[in-house]
Amino acid sequence: MKLERPEHPAPVDAADRKGIRPVICYPVEGLPRPDLAAYRAAREGWSLVAEVLVPPREARTFEVPAGWFFRIVSVEGPQVGDLNLFAAENLGERFFSGKTRALHGTHLSTGDRMWSCLPHLRPMATITDDTLDWYGFDAFGGSVHDVIGTRCDPYTHALLSGGEQYHHCCHSNLTRAVADHWGLPAKAAELHVHDVLNVFMCTGFTRETGQYFMKASPVRPGDHLEFMAEIDLLGALSACPGGDCSAEHSSDVAACHPLKVQVFRPKAPPVGWVSPGPNAYDRSHGQE
Ligand SMILES: [Zn+2]
Repeated sequence: MKLERPEHPAPVDAADRKGIRPVICYPVEGLPRPDLAAYRAAREGWSLVAEVLVPPREARTFEVPAGWFFRIVSVEGPQVGDLNLFAAENLGERFFSGKTRALHGTHLSTGDRMWSCLPHLRPMATITDDTLDWYGFDAFGGSVHDVIGTRCDPYTHALLSGGEQYHHCCHSNLTRAVADHWGLPAKAAELHVHDVLNVFMCTGFTRETGQYFMKASPVRPGDHLEFMAEIDLLGALSACPGGDCSAEHSSDVAACHPLKVQVFRPKAPPVGWVSPGPNAYDRSHGQE
């Protein structure tokens, strides 16, 4: 955080320097854009082929082949979900929250994509519907589906609580789910767990101090966030112990609800769509 009282005096041209207008780091106009109309048309006559219920304070995995769709659905009550994505056959290619944030902003919605980590950097999934798109940004600067938080984890909790042990943070839930899927010990599996898309979570940064905040999620049963898988995916979703994240997480105090994942097989993939290949960079890094 910035000092309440700076230790160094402002230079004479401070106002000029601070008055420079910002420029967007990554103008998205340069990115390959998804043909959303074609994606949405492919939903016509699709079949619901799998449903996974994620119990409160637990995580579950699910598989979605390229060109298929999945929805994360609110059931029973307001609940936040922490989503990890992996290439189905390659644990090393996973969701890159930081670059997704740099490309699409702090909070995702329809048309935005979840990008994979370096050296892959290709779209893993595209958001095709968001029933909370009406929320926009509130008066506090908050919004839903952020890529600014990380995932609640027992290490941060131990630091802040004087060493308390809590085993149902999203990091641990995702670790157990990934461990079960790949038959790995927890200590090996947790190395693959990564920063998440905070589905339905309402977050922002305070204007005064720039601190990460959360507030009660506006999600209600029946709401969903829908994606099309750009590559063969393994997803892992945790129903956060924070519930609607109105008060606290990393404990069993909050009211928690399950989340449902639905997987849909379209009759045919979107017209004109091709699963993205490897990134165009040659990976030589300038080395002779
Ligand atoms: Zn969590």
